[in-house]
Order: sequence, then C-alpha cells, then structure tokens
Amino acid sequence: MKKVAISACLLGEACRYDGRDNRNDVLLEALGDVQLLPFCPEDDAFGTPRPTMDLVATGNGVRALSNATGEDLSEPVMTYAKAFFDRHPDIALFVGKDRSPSCGVCSARCYSEEKELLSDKAAGLMAQEALSRGIEAVDAEIFMESQKGDEQ
Ligand code: SF4
Repeated sequence: MKKVAISACLLGEACRYDGRDNRNDVLLEALGDVQLLPFCPEDDAFGTPRPTMDLVATGNGVRALSNATGEDLSEPVMTYAKAFFDRHPDIALFVGKDRSPSCGVCSARCYSEEKELLSDKAAGLMAQEALSRGIEAVDAEIFMESQKGDEQ
C-alpha cells in the first residue's frame, strides 16, 4: 500500500503549538486508501504547547528561531526529520501542513534577521529534508486543490 507521511495535526492530533489540532476530514478522504505515517517534529522536540518559531535567513543559512527567546531550534527538528525518513525509506508522498516552519512545503514564511518578510513560499525544515531525499512533497491545501481539479 502507498505510504504517505503526513503532519500529525492534520489527522486530529492536538500537537499544534497552542495545543489544538488541524484535523482535515476532506483531505483524509481525498488521500483515499493509503498507509498514513504521521509525524510532528515540534511536539517531539519541544512538547505541546510551546512557543512559536519562524524561519529566518541568517548568515548560517535558513534557521528556525524561537519567537520567545530567539534561540535556534533547527537542530532538534532536523534530527527528528532525518531519523523519520531513515526509518521509512519507502515513503511515496509527503503531505505537510501549510505555512508551518517545519512542515510547510512551499508556503512557509521566511524572514530576514530584521524581521522583514522575504518569502511566503519557503519550505519548512522537515519538508526540506523530504525534498532533499527526492520524496514528492505537497502542502495539504494544494493537494486538496489538485484533487478537485482531477474530479472536473
Ligand atoms: S504543522 Fe507540523 S510541527 Fe506543526 S503541529 Fe502540525 S505536524 Fe506538528
């Protein structure tokens, strides 16, 4: 069966920074009969609830910085991502929660160190790891739009 890695909050896990979820029944129906492999790098690394973080273009590349402390939180997220994909080398599709600095595929915001918006089409850290491994990756909203297109 096709293996689909998916942001756990989209399945209804209350792992968002604010302790809520992003359950999306329309998305789950559109995915059909697949094996879902949920992930949440931020809950694993920092627990829930937690302060938010943003992608920031630094002299050391694009990093995820805490909005509460400015601390660079990238390493735990990247370590989780690498271990997840190492454990599941046969993932056919990655579906990420839009706009997340960890899971967004082409919808995350990236700021300068002066907090100017540089892009709203960046890849979050876990999505970057998926893309670097050649895994097909898509934002949840774009996946649903593409399914609507297929139905017409
Ligand atoms: S968007 Fe990603 S990191 Fe954020 S709660 Fe959902 S699965 Fe976790």
